Amino acid sequence: MGYKLVLATNNQHKLHEVKEILNPHGITVFSLSDLNLKPEDVEENADTYYGNALIKAQAVAKLTNMPVIADDSGLEVKAMNNLPGLHSARFAEQCGGHANAMQKILAATKEEKSARFVCDIVLLNEEKEPILFESIVDGQIAESPFGEGGFGYDPIFICQATGKTYATMSEEEKNQYSHRGTALKKLIDYLYEKKKISR
Ligand code: IMP
Repeated sequence: MGYKLVLATNNQHKLHEVKEILNPHGITVFSLSDLNLKPEDVEENADTYYGNALIKAQAVAKLTNMPVIADDSGLEVKAMNNLPGLHSARFAEQCGGHANAMQKILAATKEEKSARFVCDIVLLNEEKEPILFESIVDGQIAESPFGEGGFGYDPIFICQATGKTYATMSEEEKNQYSHRGTALKKLIDYLYEKKKISR
């Protein structure tokens, strides 16, 4: 028995991470390009991660009868009043890229370094009902960027559980501890519970 779903993203890093986590559980992940799906450009203008993930999932669910998942995540920095948070992608764009955005965050966190990554994943199931899986990973902003792996803010986020930046963790380690990895584990547990996949 297997379960097939579409991941509503054009981010290749994310697609890779999600496939690595879900495939071993008999869940086949299709990308938008695998199915030649071209959802309309939607504005992610909700005021919650859940709302934005739902907007992304619904745009794709209009085009397919397959279950769809979408995620929305962000880095919340305590010294910046929990920004960039929901606006993490936009903040990087406005700064001219993640490298500059990370420098801004480093400058703002000389004293208070607490931060967390939040991830909301929405599954729109066969009935197109939304089900939310959320994870929050606590950590700290590093003294300076460290590591080559991953993407986005990975070089400056030290995950509390490992004491290392996401960018210095192996793929497997990041998937085990990250906000997206732990939210996806909740999705996997749910699919086992609903007998959509079997052990
Ligand atoms: P999204 O909503 O999941 O697309 O994420 C929004 C933004 O948050 C991304 O463009 C990145 O700037 C940041 N982000 C999300 N997940 C990660 C991650 O795993 N590592 C580093 N940055 C991330």
